[in-house]
Formats: sequence, C-alpha cells, structure tokens
Amino acid sequence: MKTLPEIFQSNSPVISIEVFPPKTEQGDRSLFNMLDRLAQYKPAFISCTYGAGGSERTRTVDLCQRIQQQFEIPTTAHLTCVGSSRAEIIDILNSANAAGVKNIMALRGDAPEGAQTFEATEGGLAFANELVQLIREHFPEMGIGVAAYPEKHTEAPDLPTDLKNLKRKIDAGADVAFTQLFFENDNFYRFREMYEQAGCHIPLVPGIMPITEFARIKRITALCGAIFPDELASRLEAVQDDKQAQMEIGVNHAIAQCQDLLNQGAPGIHFYALNKSRACQQILDALDLS
Ligand SMILES: Cc1cc2nc3c(=O)[nH]c(=O)nc-3n(C[C@H](O)[C@H](O)[C@H](O)COP(=O)(O)OP(=O)(O)OC[C@H]3O[C@@H](n4cnc5c(N)ncnc54)[C@H](O)[C@@H]3O)c2cc1C
Repeated sequence: MKTLPEIFQSNSPVISIEVFPPKTEQGDRSLFNMLDRLAQYKPAFISCTYGAGGSERTRTVDLCQRIQQQFEIPTTAHLTCVGSSRAEIIDILNSANAAGVKNIMALRGDAPEGAQTFEATEGGLAFANELVQLIREHFPEMGIGVAAYPEKHTEAPDLPTDLKNLKRKIDAGADVAFTQLFFENDNFYRFREMYEQAGCHIPLVPGIMPITEFARIKRITALCGAIFPDELASRLEAVQDDKQAQMEIGVNHAIAQCQDLLNQGAPGIHFYALNKSRACQQILDALDLS
C-alpha cells in the first residue's frame, strides 16, 4: 500500500474519501456498500476518522485494515491527542503499523463533550505538531497528513497566527495538508497565497463536503466554523421542505467548486463523504477524471 508522499507524486488529481467508523452493524454494512460503489472511481485513498477514548481507539485502525483488505485501496487512519498519553498514542501507532496502515492524519482533536477548552491528557500531547514529531521519531516511514484552515481554526486569534501553527506541523515532518471544508473558493485561494508566501511547500488539498441536507450542513458548519455564503443559504432556505432540491443545489455547488479548484491547480480533492455515496458519485461523474 502506498504512503501519502507516493500517492501525491501522481500527475492526475488525487481523489480521497473520508468516512467515519459506524457504531452499528447496519451502519457497517451500509458503509461497505457505499465504498463498493465509490471504489469504481478508484480513489487514491480512503481516510477514517477517529473518535476519542475507549473502544473507539481501536475502531479506526480496524476499519482501515478491513478497507485495505477488501478494496486494496490505501487508507489513512486519523489519530487525535484527545484522552491519550504518549505511550497510548505509540500503542495505537504500533497497531496501525502492524495492520499495514501506512498513513496517519495527525490531529490534536477537540475538547471532549462538556469541556470548554482542549486540555492535554497527563503525559499526553498539547498540539498536533507534537503528534507529527512523535510519529516522525518512532515511525519515520509513515505518511503524515495534517489539518489546515483556510477560514481560520475557531480557536486561533487570526489567520497569520494559525498559519504559523500549521507551519510548525509541516516543519515537524507532515507530508500533506488537508483543509477544513469550505464553500467559497476565493477563501481557499487567498489562504493558498499566504501559505506559499509563508514557505509551506507540501501539497495543500481542498476538503469538500457535498451538501445533502441544509439542516445538517448548518449544524456542521456552526461546529467547525466554516463560512456559509448568504447566497447559497438563501437558495437552500427557499427549498427547505424539499430534500431532493436541497441535494441538487448542494451537488451542483460542489461540482462547480471542484471543477474550479482543479482548474486552478489543486492537487486533488478530499471529500467529506459522511458515509454516503450518492452525492460523491454525482460529483465524480460530472468531473470525469478518468
Ligand atoms: C482534514 C481534517 C480531518 C479531521 N479529522 C478529525 C478526526 O478524525 N477526529 C477528530 O476528533 N477531529 C478531526 N478533525 C477536527 C480537528 O480535530 C479539530 O479541528 C481540532 O480543533 C484541531 O485539530 P488540529 O489538528 O488542527 O490542531 P492543531 O494544529 O494543534 O491546532 C489547534 C489550535 O491550536 C493552535 N496551535 C497549534 N499548534 C500550536 C502551538 N504549538 N502553540 C500554540 N498554538 C498552537 C492552532 O492555531 C489552532 O487554533 C479534523 C479536521 C480536519 C481539517
């Protein structure tokens, strides 16, 4: 299985699909059916998110291993610093390595439910750059992805400060940066200019979440701090009782965004697919990357 640097050597756009580990058997079946449908588009890799604590810790690596076995597509296991000491993080990395998972999305994670701010666990890590450094020290061959925020991370005082912190992750050895979801390409282009001027040299991959339901996307954007354009919001509001129409508007918006991003030199698209295939299929059909 390829590592992220090997994958991004490609001349064609790198398409990746992000999924989350389901909590039920039904969810599990539906995820694998979804992946079965999307596998025909030959995504370069599938990434699996990480939830904090307990049994959730092993779920991500297990899911990555199953996806690699079933579809022969490389995976990237997300990993956060939430609730784990350095030793526990190293344990997880060892299991990823033993399972043949060659890439890690190295994240700090969010404050656990009920807590106002993120606090490092005793003996744990405070920021994602420390996680990147730890992975590089112990697993020099691993591919490492990190998060980037074209519209600023919610806790950062301003974009230049946030960018300096992103640079710390790159200097610590990250291979590729994947952005938070956004709906206005101009915000991505402005950020990319600052990114390049700051001496960030690794691929910067836009993250796109196709809108399938207005209510859901409003909740998600409120949580992650993505800017929702007024014009798009009013179009969706006008059809708030018609889910099919919402999906159509959302998919068309995503198609236009992706086409423009690829025309403007984005190295690929990272799809936040939310374990659903229909919107991604429609977008990938329209992009016709074959
Ligand atoms: C592509 C992608 C995938 C994600 N996957 C998951 C997932 O699977 N599970 C999950 O729980 N969450 C996930 N998230 C969400 C992520 O965990 C949150 O956005 C979290 O709040 C920040 O994580 P980070 O890795 O960007 O943190 P960091 O890069 O550590 O940044 C966090 C904040 O601290 C500041 N900062 C960073 N380093 C320093 C430093 N050294 N000194 C001072 N300030 C600093 C930054 O400016 C920022 O405001 C994902 C986000 C993205 C974009």
